[in-house]
Amino acid sequence: MTRPDLLDRLAVQTAERDRAALLRRARTIEHAEGPWLEIDGRRLLGFCSNDYLGLAQHPQLIAAFKRIADDEGVGSTAAHLVCGHRREHAMLEEALADWTGRERALLFSTGYAANLGALQALLGGVDGALCVQDKLNHACLIDGARLAGGELKRYPHADVEGAARQLASRAGAPALLATDGVFSMDGDVAPLAALAALAAREGATLMVDDAHGLGVLGAQGAGSVAAAGLGAADVPVLMATLGKALGCAGAFVAGSAALIEGLTQFARPHVYSTAMPPALAAAALAAVRLAREEDWRRGKLAALIARLRRGAAELGLPLMASTTAIQPLLLGDADAALAASQALEAQGLLVTAIRPPTVPVGQARLRITLSAAHEESHVDRLLAALERVGPTVRGR
Ligand SMILES: *Cc1c(COP(=O)(O)O)cnc(C)c1O
Repeated sequence: MTRPDLLDRLAVQTAERDRAALLRRARTIEHAEGPWLEIDGRRLLGFCSNDYLGLAQHPQLIAAFKRIADDEGVGSTAAHLVCGHRREHAMLEEALADWTGRERALLFSTGYAANLGALQALLGGVDGALCVQDKLNHACLIDGARLAGGELKRYPHADVEGAARQLASRAGAPALLATDGVFSMDGDVAPLAALAALAAREGATLMVDDAHGLGVLGAQGAGSVAAAGLGAADVPVLMATLGKALGCAGAFVAGSAALIEGLTQFARPHVYSTAMPPALAAAALAAVRLAREEDWRRGKLAALIARLRRGAAELGLPLMASTTAIQPLLLGDADAALAASQALEAQGLLVTAIRPPTVPVGQARLRITLSAAHEESHVDRLLAALERVGPTVRGR
């Protein structure tokens, strides 16, 4: 019996990507210290982490992690519903619910799993279900809708009219409207108030993925939804991650007690996956407290963003229209983005080139991210390096 060989097919696809000069490769970081990263024995100043508040190496997170690891060991040893749900998880869920102004929160091991779980629990097996999403939503929201079944309809980026048309095309269908709060590759904020009004008008459920907004936007860093003046009634399904501004790993969905009860029963990535290490939950709890209390981190980040944008405008650099920590420099061509990234690396800076298929063809970019761990002198160094790289970064 002969069949097409799956490993051969994968090798062919990889070779095609290689020929298109779009192969990806992980860089091995030998040491990380604040924004500094050591690669191949060279110290590079990084502008690509999502550690927006500079908490990943905070002594209080490390102390909390160590204390629980010393007492309880490393692994949670089981899924939450078996015997993996420790006091640290329970405390973290309570703190996240309180922070986001929701009745309850439920932990997942990653943001990817949280979105798969939430969408599958909400849409799975629902007759005629419709999921309407922004075209630039994160991959795991898209994958979640596909996994759940039902119909996925996407609307042009941030186009509320487009979303309205997609909902209207299936009047009467049970519908979830899902959007990133802050778009991960563009840094712009979704038109949340208009989307909430649309969802209310259409009887659709609104879900926001606030991976890049939590900790960064809103009073006490409560996120993009709070910053838009919206509450639990407007956005009944709120998802966010612990691996970005909170400097840890993992994620949660927050909402009504009934939503969380339903997810506990039906969100398979929660039910069938090992709970995150309790030491990690303890570190995340310390991070939540710091993120809420230390407004100066958001203030410092905002000042760095303003400094970068001012400097880039003076140099005529094509920064995209973003007010968040994600400040992409749009270069268009994938080769140009890669060349610019390499030219910056030669000057001691690490700024990752983001290329298709992560972004649309013709929209390759340097995804510059800032952190409260950066100093003004770091931003100045980045601007000086970009100026030296010159025409490559003004390629469009
Ligand atoms: C990073 C990210 C995720 C995935 O979260 P992980 O915890 O890294 O799996 C989900 N949504 C958005 C918008 C993200 O940027």
